[in-house]
Formats: sequence, C-alpha cells, structure tokens
Amino acid sequence: MGLVVTIDGPAASGKSSVSRELARRLGWKWVSTGAFYRGLAYAAIQLNVDLDDVKALAELTHNPVWNVSLESDRTRVYFKNQDVTDAIAHETVGNFASKVSHYPEVRKALLDAQRNCSNGEHGLVAEGRDCGTVVFPTAEAKVYLTASSEHRAARRATELGLDHSDMVKAQKQRDHQDSTRKAAPMSVPAGALELDSTELDLNQVVDKVEAFVKTKI
Ligand code: C5P
Repeated sequence: MGLVVTIDGPAASGKSSVSRELARRLGWKWVSTGAFYRGLAYAAIQLNVDLDDVKALAELTHNPVWNVSLESDRTRVYFKNQDVTDAIAHETVGNFASKVSHYPEVRKALLDAQRNCSNGEHGLVAEGRDCGTVVFPTAEAKVYLTASSEHRAARRATELGLDHSDMVKAQKQRDHQDSTRKAAPMSVPAGALELDSTELDLNQVVDKVEAFVKTKI
C-alpha cells in the first residue's frame, strides 16, 4: 500500500474539490469513495434491484456491469460502458447511495475495491465518510472537513441548478442517516485535522491541508 491521506466529512463540504487539488499538488491519485455507493445505487435502480434486498445488493457490488475509474478530474462511474458520472451526481442518487450504504454487507463487499485504489507507486488522497476510520485506518494523515449546512447546500444547489431550501433538507436527511447508522458511521477519525471551510476559499483550504499533510509524510 502506498502513502494515503484521507478526507472525510458531510455532504458537499468540499471534499472532492480539496482532494482533487491536493492530489494535483502532491502528484498523487485521488478517489471519491462515494462513487462506489452512488454507482451501486445507480446500477441497482437501472437493473430493478430492490434497495432493501441486501443479498442482491452485495452481489451487485461485484457485477462487471458497472465500475469505478480514478481519473484526475473526477472519479468516474461507468454503467454498461456508458459514463454515468453526471447522472450519479444528482441528490436523488446521493440519497439512494446513503440508503444502500447503511448495510454492513454492502460496505464490506465494497471495501477491497476501495482499498485497492491505493495500490501502485503513487500516493492516494481518499475522500468519503469512513476513509480515515475504516477504509484506511493507518493512513499517514487524516482530515475531517466541514462547513455550515447553509453554505454546503448553497454550494451543491448552485452546482446542480436546484432549489436551495430543498437542498438544505435533503442534505440534512442524508447527513443524519450517514452519521447515525450502525455500520461505519461518519465520524471524526482520531488524530484528524478538523477544518471548517465556511469562510475559506478552495486554495486556502488546500494550503492548510497540504501544510498539515507535509508534517506527516
Ligand atoms: O460523498 P458522496 O456524497 O458522493 O457520498 C454518497 C453517499 O455514499 C453518502 O451520503 C454516504 O451514505 C455514502 N458513503 C459512505 N461512505 C463513504 C463514502 C460515501 O457511506 N466512504
């Protein structure tokens, strides 16, 4: 396993933008582990798999009909060889992803694929909810990124062209599901740098994260 930095935190806290820029500066790869849950939820919906059928969901995690690809701009998801990265970005898919992610069997089935992202000669920046606690517990540096719920909703609503107040509600519900589930709930990893990005721009956040990471590697 190569060097790993984890960035966890709630929905739309800027994890992907920060990970992408940090990885660019370090010359490393990055992965949005949410893409695994979003891709699985998307594939289940397309294939009419019941989102409560844990066994079928766990089997679908290994079905080559969908896959995740680490690219420098985005973590892409392919379904039947079509790039569905834009489609899975929608909050509806995020909510379905949150539903399937609360099953321990599903999380376990996706674990190896997520861990394998750190194989190879380059370091890895991994972002999600449990990257520092479960997926990469021995990561060299861990970060927990947050921002006010208003700020996060505004950011994602603008990205997706949606109503702001609907987004506040949807994200609150998803964060609640993600932090109260039994299996690998979203939480601050021990020893993590906790950073509130509400008043900071992207470069200021990445500067702070990069300075922290450099004290650890
Ligand atoms: O980060 P993103 O919004 O793409 O994640 C979508 C959903 O996938 C989250 O709301 C969460 O339920 C789940 N997830 C998770 N563990 C991770 C990453 C994402 O449970 N490491």
